[in-house]
Amino acid sequence: MNDRRNEPTTEVPITSVQLPEGTEAEVLAVLRSGQLAQGAVVAEFERRFAELCGVDHAVAVNNGTTALTAALKVHGLGPGDEVVTSPFTFVATLNAILDTGASVRFGDISDVDFNLDSDSAGHQITPATRALLPIHLYGQCADLPAFESLADSRGLCLIEDAAQAHGAMIGGRRAGSVGTGCFSFYATKNITCGEGGMVTTDSAELADSLRVLRNQGMRKRYEYEMAGNNYRLTDLAAAVGLPQLDHYDRQVQRRRSNAARLSDRLSKVPGLALPRELPGRTHVWHQYTVRISDGSALSRDEFVAQLQAAGIGAGVYYPHLVHDYECYRENPRVHDSPLPVARRVASEVVSLPVHPGLDESDLDRIASVVAGVLS
Ligand SMILES: *Cc1c(COP(=O)(O)O)cnc(C)c1O
Repeated sequence: MNDRRNEPTTEVPITSVQLPEGTEAEVLAVLRSGQLAQGAVVAEFERRFAELCGVDHAVAVNNGTTALTAALKVHGLGPGDEVVTSPFTFVATLNAILDTGASVRFGDISDVDFNLDSDSAGHQITPATRALLPIHLYGQCADLPAFESLADSRGLCLIEDAAQAHGAMIGGRRAGSVGTGCFSFYATKNITCGEGGMVTTDSAELADSLRVLRNQGMRKRYEYEMAGNNYRLTDLAAAVGLPQLDHYDRQVQRRRSNAARLSDRLSKVPGLALPRELPGRTHVWHQYTVRISDGSALSRDEFVAQLQAAGIGAGVYYPHLVHDYECYRENPRVHDSPLPVARRVASEVVSLPVHPGLDESDLDRIASVVAGVLS
């Protein structure tokens, strides 16, 4: 028999899926319609998501990794081309680039917003560079105006990994509306279909290529224009995501007030650096990520262990640089560079629960446990 009584239970989880009322009816309607694959619900989900992002076109795909691969491919990226991105991201960013046959170089990050630094990225540009790929990590936009002018001045395309940043803003513009936006609807993301993804763009031409690419390169039945793939989302999955769009503003408001409460309660804890929303940006708080600095009472890993023992779901996103694994070390298309800030940050970060399912007593408990273990 399984005896789970002595295992620590995570009482305040790091993530929790909360689907609005009406989701079951929406999914049931798709089941009963007999049209389960891509159809009218996907089209409606695309229209509504384009509206959320303030773009002309949104093209749904089956996950966020595919969104990145598809965006890179329709921009023409392939063998011999280079992409400059952040070394501090989920592995999907790197895998999508490698999947196209392109090579990757890394700029360092800022320890203020955890995102790719545009000056450092600029130093990684070579004659082979074709694209810049900043990530809006944890729900706060990278410095998109800086990346936009860098891309314009060097003739590069700009692709945004917005998998964690649905609805985030910078200078009044939405994530995914400056470059070509790539979103994920994985189960833990701010908006979820279980699995799903979206590419956003103002270019009718790119949107058209994306639609053909995701459907085996087929425009009309059995007429193929390019070597495509099956990247389609299903109506069944879109029906899970669609109702969340009606409530998304409120969900973001909750994430924002949860973050504000944590920051208020944690402001005086020694050895703890709190995350900040930078001026001109609207953070959507996919994660609330603190840093455990040198002067702190515990090491990062001890801190995480103590939080978990106390029933607080804490996560480390991400413990290593994205390419710092054996499987990438000998890959000639993965170019390492000195990345001192990213390396230090990867050893310091811990994400605390901030999702909309938390109430004030959960937040106060998180804060008091954090303060307790660090004092
Ligand atoms: C989740 C995520 C992805 C990939 O999305 P999937 O839907 O899991 O394929 C890509 N980049 C980042 C930064 C992510 O967090």
